[in-house]
Amino acid sequence: MANSPPPEVEVTRPDKLLWASSGITKRHFVDYLGAVSDHMLPWVRQRPMTLVRAPDGVGGKQYFQKAVPTYAPEWIRTVRIPAPSAGRDVDFVVCENRATLQWLGNQAALELHPAPVRVDMLDRPDLLVVDIDPPEGAFDAAVEVALMVLDVLDDLGVATGIKTTGGKGLHVVAPIERRYEPEEFRRAAGRLTAIVVARRPELVTDEFRKAKREGRVMLDPSRNGTGATIVAPYSPRAREEATVSFPVTPDELSTVSPDAFTISSVPDLLDRPGPKRWFVLASERHRLPKQLLSDP
Ligand code: ATP
Ligand code: MN
Repeated sequence: MANSPPPEVEVTRPDKLLWASSGITKRHFVDYLGAVSDHMLPWVRQRPMTLVRAPDGVGGKQYFQKAVPTYAPEWIRTVRIPAPSAGRDVDFVVCENRATLQWLGNQAALELHPAPVRVDMLDRPDLLVVDIDPPEGAFDAAVEVALMVLDVLDDLGVATGIKTTGGKGLHVVAPIERRYEPEEFRRAAGRLTAIVVARRPELVTDEFRKAKREGRVMLDPSRNGTGATIVAPYSPRAREEATVSFPVTPDELSTVSPDAFTISSVPDLLDRPGPKRWFVLASERHRLPKQLLSDP
């Protein structure tokens, strides 16, 4: 049967540059995915995956892609999800193993964005995500807000992880038991955001319109909606610097430089405390605290 993955994924055009200004070829990228797969898989398994494809690498055209390519081999797992807005079903890739990550790498899927739900219970989200978006060039402000979010969740007894996004900001993630409906989950995320904003309204806002942010850090609870995605830990970004979304700890947050986490550097950084913490966190599940739930 063609249902088990091959031991080696064939790399076509291995010398093709995907992150040209960083000198990263398709061969490098596929090897990178192999190196991080044990750490990444616990966060992507069983989850419908959205891809950022860039067939000609960074600088060429790029697009979000939900539907798996029709020529995908049989051993790639997929899940069919109704997409009422598109008026048809979409078959998503589900990355169950290293070979699937590497096959996607060979397809120039530069970024991997799993859903905060798993295939066997698509209407029960299990990742609470706080997307922390600082104003241009103000990573320090994102750090300050992240520490506040961690503090609030810690007070509420919710276990968390934090990672750089590989872009401008940070993501705080809390793994949650699958017992809450999407609407309740979204409300909980909204309440959490409101608590943080109330503490430091001059520093942080949940105002979606850019003009109203006035240099403040933006928290967007709608990232917890059905159909939302979050870039996977260890996924690179389609940016020239080949930066990667990388787990860090609260202790090192004030001193890390997110630009230091790249496709080239990260394989040697997997024994740092951030990846260790996220490896454990991946198998934890906690309840939402009553302070974030609807009044009875
Ligand atoms: P940054 O730190 O630069 O904000 P980010 O990954 O948080 O990086 P955002 O634009 O804040 O980027 O988006 C948060 C998440 O929402 C992303 O990780 C991605 O999974 C999802 N997302 C953003 N834009 C889109 C889009 N156009 N289509 C689908 N998902 C998106
Ligand atoms: Mn963001």
